[in-house]
Amino acid sequence: MTLHTRAKGNDRAHEVVRLPAFEQVRDDPVLYAHASRVLHLESNPGNARALVQRHGQRDVWINPPPWPLRTPELDRVFELPYQRVPHPHYGDARIPAYEMIRFSVNIMRGCFGGCTFCSITEHEGRIIQNRSEQSILREIENIRDHTPGFTGVISDLGGPTANMWRLHCKDPAIESRCRRLSCVYPGICSNLNTDQMPLVRLYRKARALPGVKRVLIASGLRYDIAVETPEYVRELVTHHVGGYLKIAPEHTEAGPLSKMMKPGIGSYDRFKALFDRYSRQAGKEQYLIPYFIAAHPGTSDEDMLALALWLKQNGFRADQVQAFLPSPMALATAMWHSGRNPLKKVMRNSEPVLSAKGRRQRRLHKAFLRYHDPDNWPLLREALQRMGRTDLIGNGKRHLVPRYQPAGTGGRPEGTRTPDRRSGAGTRFRTQHTRGSRKPQRTQRRRK
Ligand code: SF4
Repeated sequence: MTLHTRAKGNDRAHEVVRLPAFEQVRDDPVLYAHASRVLHLESNPGNARALVQRHGQRDVWINPPPWPLRTPELDRVFELPYQRVPHPHYGDARIPAYEMIRFSVNIMRGCFGGCTFCSITEHEGRIIQNRSEQSILREIENIRDHTPGFTGVISDLGGPTANMWRLHCKDPAIESRCRRLSCVYPGICSNLNTDQMPLVRLYRKARALPGVKRVLIASGLRYDIAVETPEYVRELVTHHVGGYLKIAPEHTEAGPLSKMMKPGIGSYDRFKALFDRYSRQAGKEQYLIPYFIAAHPGTSDEDMLALALWLKQNGFRADQVQAFLPSPMALATAMWHSGRNPLKKVMRNSEPVLSAKGRRQRRLHKAFLRYHDPDNWPLLREALQRMGRTDLIGNGKRHLVPRYQPAGTGGRPEGTRTPDRRSGAGTRFRTQHTRGSRKPQRTQRRRK
C-alpha cells in the first residue's frame, strides 16, 4: 500500500483547529453554522487540519480526511470476490434495492459538485477515485457470466455522478492547496479537466462486449459538465438513454440555486438543446425529466411560484415531488437550522437565510410543484391572492390555477396524503411530460 505525503511546506499538517464546544454548538445555531463551515473547509486531504471539539470533560479529535485510493488500490477493492447475490438468509424474497443494483457497475467514487443538500462529498471525498477501464470491463463480463437472470442489459455504468469518471484538477499542486467547496460552483473552475472522451471510449468498449446488448446510464449526471464535451452528450443520447433522462436542476431561481450551489437554469437550457438535437439526429423521441426540490433553505413563495410557472410553460406535471429535509452533515442543514449562510463567513449579523419550516408553508411549496393537482388548488388560490397574483387564477392557458373546483377535490392538499399507488404500485418515477406520448421508463436512479 502506497503511503501518501502531503504537499511540501504544508504546515497545516501540524495544525489543529478547535471547534466551539459541543454544548455551545448544541445551544447556539450560529455557532453550529460556523462549525459546519469549518468542517467543510477542512475536507481536502491535501491541506485539511485535524479538528478538536470539547465534549463535557473530554476532547474529541477528528482526523483529516484520508487520501483517496489510487486506481490500482480501488480496483483491488472492487475486484474482491463479491457474490453479487443477496445473502441466503433472504431466501426468495424480492429485494427492490437488489433489483436496482443487480446489473449495475460502479465505476468511481467521490464527487466535486458540492451540492449543499447532499453529503456525498463528505462521505466519499471531493477528489474522484477512478477504477481502471480494464477492471470495469472485467466486472461487466463477470455479471454476464455469473449473475443469475442477466439478459444482456447493464442497467447502469455510473457512480455518485455518472460523468465525473477521470475528471480531475489539472495540477496536483493546485489541487493540494485548494480550499474551494466545489469545482463547479459558481462556475466550472478553470483548473478542472472536463474532458469526457475517456468515458465515451469506455461506453463504446462496454457496448462492444460479446453478450452485452445494451448499457444504460442510470446514475444522475452533471449536465453543466456534460455540455463541455458535446460528443459525450451525443454518445449518451444516441446509445444510453431509455426514452426519458432524469436530471436535476433542483430549481429555476437564482436565490435557492445559490444556496444549493447549483448552476443556473441556463445550463439546463444548453444541455436540453444538445439533448434534443442529438435525439433528433438519432431518430429517437426522447425527453428530459427535470427534478426539483421544494422548500430548500433560501426559497421564497415567489421562487416556488416562478418555478411552477416554468413547469407549466415547459409542459411538466410532476407526480412525485420532494420537499427539503435536513440531513446529517449537509451545509443546507446548517442553513435550515441556523438561518445563516455557511457558504460565507458566519457572523451573528450575516445574511439571514429563510426556510419554509411550518407545515402550511412547506405544503404550499410542494403544492406549487404540483400546481395541476385539484387537491392543491384551494391552497394555491389563497396564496396567489395573498401574493397579489390573482391574475394567475382563471380558466385560460396563461393561468396557473382554475377558478372552478371539481367535485370531491380540494379537501386533501399536498402533504396530507399518502402516496397514490393506484397508477402503478412501486413505480418510482412518474413525472409526466405533457408533450410526450409514452410512459416513462424506470432507467435512472440517482439525481444530480
Ligand atoms: S483548483 Fe479548481 S479544479 Fe482544482 S481542486 Fe480547486 S476547485 Fe477543483
